[in-house]
Amino acid sequence: MSKERKELDLMIIGGGPAGFTAAMYAGRAKLNTLLLENEILGGQVRNSYTIENYPGFKQIDGGKLADIFQEQAEALGAKIDEFDSIQNVDISDDKKIVETESYIYEPKAIIFATGASPKKIPIPQESQFAGKGIHYCAICDGAMYQGKKLAVVGGGNSALEESIFLTRFAEKVYLIRRYDYFKGEQALIDEVFNHPKIEVLLNEDLVEAKGNEFLEAITIRNTKTQELSNLEVNAVFGCIGNEPRTEVAKEYLKLNEQGYIITDEDMQTNINGVYAAGDVREKKYRQITTAVADGTIALLNAEKYILKNNKRGE
Ligand SMILES: Cc1cc2nc3c(=O)[nH]c(=O)nc-3n(C[C@H](O)[C@H](O)[C@H](O)COP(=O)(O)OP(=O)(O)OC[C@H]3O[C@@H](n4cnc5c(N)ncnc54)[C@H](O)[C@@H]3O)c2cc1C
Repeated sequence: MSKERKELDLMIIGGGPAGFTAAMYAGRAKLNTLLLENEILGGQVRNSYTIENYPGFKQIDGGKLADIFQEQAEALGAKIDEFDSIQNVDISDDKKIVETESYIYEPKAIIFATGASPKKIPIPQESQFAGKGIHYCAICDGAMYQGKKLAVVGGGNSALEESIFLTRFAEKVYLIRRYDYFKGEQALIDEVFNHPKIEVLLNEDLVEAKGNEFLEAITIRNTKTQELSNLEVNAVFGCIGNEPRTEVAKEYLKLNEQGYIITDEDMQTNINGVYAAGDVREKKYRQITTAVADGTIALLNAEKYILKNNKRGE
């Protein structure tokens, strides 16, 4: 059976802060817009336990902020589909096509707001223990490890935050860092070093995970002495950075060496009518505030592009 074709003014791909902001503006501008999300609405914010640097909220749970983004976007008229996933994209010329499992969409403009996802821990046993002791989201999976010993690998804000968060459940948390310093905020670093349940292991690299069906222990190697040690832990949470989610259109879009989408300051990509916003694009600071700013700029420029093209077609 052939799929129904649907014309749209705008398709927004990704339901994180950047995508929701673009959808709010699109709703107010009465553009015929669809926001597609293929995992869970809210993006990385959904997995942040406490946010203290988003204006308007002194402190807010990430899940709550994600719910507010969604409610606000829907109240302003945004149409959201979180159950349909993209199969093919053709954005090589003026006619843009996004084929999902259910429909063939023909949007006049597209905003990629697909964000980033955690980098996998680079050990041979990663896939063997993925979900069975190797995890990337403390807020999603931490509660499974009540009273257990855990490890976190990484050195930035995420690793520091995840370590603190995991102490809610764990008996002990080892924070494994391959250098002798952290890159995160000083307040978090201090909290980690002063926390009675966290033991910081500097100059250590995770090299092996062991266990039968589930993870039971890990081996770490000292980066200075090369000495190996074993730690009995039930889970390791990886916080070693993110990678951009460009899988659906990477053959069309100009990317930098790390795979982030290159845009100009109008969020315009190398293709007319195609914009990128938020963590998926090449930029220096990846935060909720910068993602929502990108979403605003992308939408305002997409709107101009759509209006200009509509006039041409009249
Ligand atoms: C643990 C953690 C804590 C953080 N804490 C803070 C903080 O306190 N303050 C702060 O400012 N920032 C924080 N950040 C960073 C912040 O969450 C991100 O900068 C922000 O979420 C980026 O928004 P985004 O919309 O660009 O991307 P994302 O939030 O990554 O959202 C992108 C969305 O696109 C979806 N998507 C991807 N590919 C597709 C596809 N093919 N089809 C459909 N949908 C797709 C994804 O599933 C995702 O929902 C934190 C991040 C993490 C991981």
